Amino acid sequence: MEGEVISKNFIEQEIDKDLKEGRYKEVVTRFPPEPNGYLHIGHAKSILLNYGLAKEYNGKFNFRFDDTNPTKEKTEFVQSIIDDIKWLGADFGDTVHFASDYFDDMYEAAVKLIKKGKAFVCDLTADEIREYRGDFKNPGKNSPYRDRSVEENLDLFERMKNGEFPDGSKVLRAKIDMASPNINMRDPVIYRIARMTHHNTGDKWCIYPMYDFAHPIEDAIEGITHSICTLEFEDHRPLYDWVVNELEYPNPPRQIEFAKLYLTNVVTGKRYIKKLVEDGIVDGWDDPRLVSIAALRRRGYTPESIKKFMELSGVSKAQSSSDYAMLEYCIREDLKMKANRMMAVLDPIKLIIDNYPEGQVEYFDIENNQENEQAGTRKVAFSRELYIDRDDFMEEPPKKYFRLFPGNEVRLKGAYFVKCVDYKKDENGKVTEIHCTYDPETRSGSGFEGRKVKGTIHWVDAQTAIDAEVRLYENIVDEEKGKLNEDGTLNYNPNSLTILTDCKLEAAFKDAKPGESFQFIRNGFFCVDIKDTTDDKLVFNRIVSLKSSYKPA
Ligand code: ATP
Ligand code: MG
Repeated sequence: MEGEVISKNFIEQEIDKDLKEGRYKEVVTRFPPEPNGYLHIGHAKSILLNYGLAKEYNGKFNFRFDDTNPTKEKTEFVQSIIDDIKWLGADFGDTVHFASDYFDDMYEAAVKLIKKGKAFVCDLTADEIREYRGDFKNPGKNSPYRDRSVEENLDLFERMKNGEFPDGSKVLRAKIDMASPNINMRDPVIYRIARMTHHNTGDKWCIYPMYDFAHPIEDAIEGITHSICTLEFEDHRPLYDWVVNELEYPNPPRQIEFAKLYLTNVVTGKRYIKKLVEDGIVDGWDDPRLVSIAALRRRGYTPESIKKFMELSGVSKAQSSSDYAMLEYCIREDLKMKANRMMAVLDPIKLIIDNYPEGQVEYFDIENNQENEQAGTRKVAFSRELYIDRDDFMEEPPKKYFRLFPGNEVRLKGAYFVKCVDYKKDENGKVTEIHCTYDPETRSGSGFEGRKVKGTIHWVDAQTAIDAEVRLYENIVDEEKGKLNEDGTLNYNPNSLTILTDCKLEAAFKDAKPGESFQFIRNGFFCVDIKDTTDDKLVFNRIVSLKSSYKPA
């Protein structure tokens, strides 16, 4: 890019080398989720990495459901996963691949291994197989069935397929090396008998391939060049290579591992999220406090902000945790120019301008985004009765409090200066009403250059205000206090959700659409909830406050 030196990550360096040495002529990557849950921010990393590489090298990006394991799969997840990937902007063309489409090829591949003397049918029980396998210190022992003839193996494997044997009574194993220091290479099981109905193939099969056998075949069939996965598969790579080499694929794919994304102050484990959902602590998998992609979208994160976050967190082989504050930084940066800045009062208190004519209404032109002229302006109504935030008034202010207090003058954002002359309280001492006078000379836009005030506060015209519910979020767990209790349960923050039901918004919000984001002036970024907003009720989620402690390196 115009002489700019951008350091490439280790995967790009490997790809450069492969292309230079002619190992591959193009780059084909894939994202292969199991349809057994919602995708989360960790998956987003994998999606954007794989898609990004395909795009960078003018290659291809495949999207494939890894649906070889019928017990755990649920079709209900298929659509949500497709929606999430599309939303992230990872374009996979028109084809959704299914690993189960290749069951015939996988069966043929197993037959080929048998014919080469590289696979055998084994009658040991699961426990016996484990016993024979040995461990890190001790080599394994050969199965007594290891030397069955090719003919016998072909016959037994076919009969396994035909349903002649009960579930679990036989398996097909690769014949590799029971003394290998890598336990994955000790004659791993590659097919098992299991009578399970598959969402795609129904009851056609009663034998199913194991992941380590199926995955390299799926990649090879699709012409994947770089099969990128996370570090826990590093020890499985020799088996991956063994499978594609023994099956003699002409241009076999290669596996490259990178470190998973971990994020502070969030929960990603399916087990914990399930518990939070079941215990009613969160409102489903898309609760805005979670970091499933559906939850991030509902909270108001944008695909651009997530992309930016992945760029900042980088790709490496070293295990590390990314700071949640960095994700917040990314959405603030993204919405800074995009979101209109409007006035919303979350904890309203009436402000009455005693000397403003009753029944009079005037309109101020207020810019939608001071940093983005193209955002234009809007008309904001102003009259005798307004709402301001309770926070912006104090009976007895401390030093350096520049907002409203008896005798003090402030600017009402985009309107007039007002001075507090009186206030009323109820029997509990709660302030119910503030009385002010305004100075007509100080009209915003009139060129008034008289006295200065130190505080500017936002406001909403009471007559035209619209009502809304606003939900404020805090982290659902706090890293510093420990994510787990001593008994292993989740130590969740009981204050992670605050619901404000009496918020007053300026009239322009009447056009707000579900999913649309705004800056509430002086407060933060908020998104119209896509699930609970109705024609009669506006619900906002706080995406992030305006303040940040995070600074990018
Ligand atoms: P499980 O195996 O518990 O079902 P999973 O997160 O591994 O969960 P998959 O559907 O197998 O779910 O994941 C699809 C892809 O996403 C895999 O390539 C996996 O390596 C990658 N992936 C999963 N979690 C992360 C993460 N935290 N960071 C980066 N990539 C991830
Ligand atoms: Mg997995």
